[in-house]
Amino acid sequence: MASPLKIGCSYFGNYHLRHVKTDLVELKEVGFNTLTIPLSENDLQFYKQTVAEIVTLGKEMNFEISIDPWGIGKVFGGEAYSWFVAKYPSECQILEDGSTVPYACPNSRSFREYLSEWLHFASSTQADYILWDEPHLYIPGWAGETKGTWACHCRTCQKSFRNLMGYKLPKNINEDVGTWQITVLLELLSKLNTLTTHLGKKNQIILMPNAEDKPGGISWERLGELEHLSIFGTDPYWIWDKKDMASYVREYSRKVFDICQNHSWEPQIWLQAMKIPAGRENEMVQAMGICQEEGIRNISFWGYDCCRHISYARCDNPDVAWKVLCKGIMDIQTPYR
Ligand SMILES: [Zn+2]
Repeated sequence: MASPLKIGCSYFGNYHLRHVKTDLVELKEVGFNTLTIPLSENDLQFYKQTVAEIVTLGKEMNFEISIDPWGIGKVFGGEAYSWFVAKYPSECQILEDGSTVPYACPNSRSFREYLSEWLHFASSTQADYILWDEPHLYIPGWAGETKGTWACHCRTCQKSFRNLMGYKLPKNINEDVGTWQITVLLELLSKLNTLTTHLGKKNQIILMPNAEDKPGGISWERLGELEHLSIFGTDPYWIWDKKDMASYVREYSRKVFDICQNHSWEPQIWLQAMKIPAGRENEMVQAMGICQEEGIRNISFWGYDCCRHISYARCDNPDVAWKVLCKGIMDIQTPYR
């Protein structure tokens, strides 16, 4: 018989191990078998052993586990604050008008040392994968700054641009700037991937859907430049991105499947399980079916309990949303039980 689908969710916001255990037992019964555990800067400072214990508990229950650098330096995605950007404003990205934004510069040596410290700890846990989640430069409009602005103009980046392109970093964005920005992110990820492998873990990358209206990220076409990558995926959050669920999820499932076939990576799709409007709960289940039709057998939801505990991201009807999702997962896993 074929193996079950990999079905997962992100799990965070609870540091009480006995409650974690209750939740993981429930997840196992439903048919979840993978977990993504964020390790934020706050966690690294105050909860790192607790997070490691949660990972150990998950492994004891046979979950495949990824650790996520949640919101670190705000270079990675996640609803977590960054201690680094507050403590080291001189290591942050600079816009073309000279203002500093609360995003660490990927070229900053201090930030790279900080990421290395994070990665050494994350790799000391029993997790299987390190999930490099939505790596990006400053994204216009995200932190309240004006749309149309871009980064980074710090001294290190100015040198880096001149080295690559042979002329001064311009004030107006052009094609070379876009190429260089992606090079900067890929160079950072390349170093991180190599270190992850050296530390005995596997790499997983999630990029935002590669739409034209989402600058600041990495173009998928260049992802093949990276070595040591095991899982690649994206997160077509259709309600968040104001898209039609069926066509959006299908389009990106196909794109992920194709690129993974070319590189022998395992394809993964993240689906939205937060901010679900009343009456649309079944879209989560339909989306999972579309992924499966497109050959995706590693599907994760953000996040556990449909994010009931994050009032900002809660669904209109949290009880209904979680119940519908769990029923859908039980049904899709039934043939493999
Ligand atoms: Zn910079």
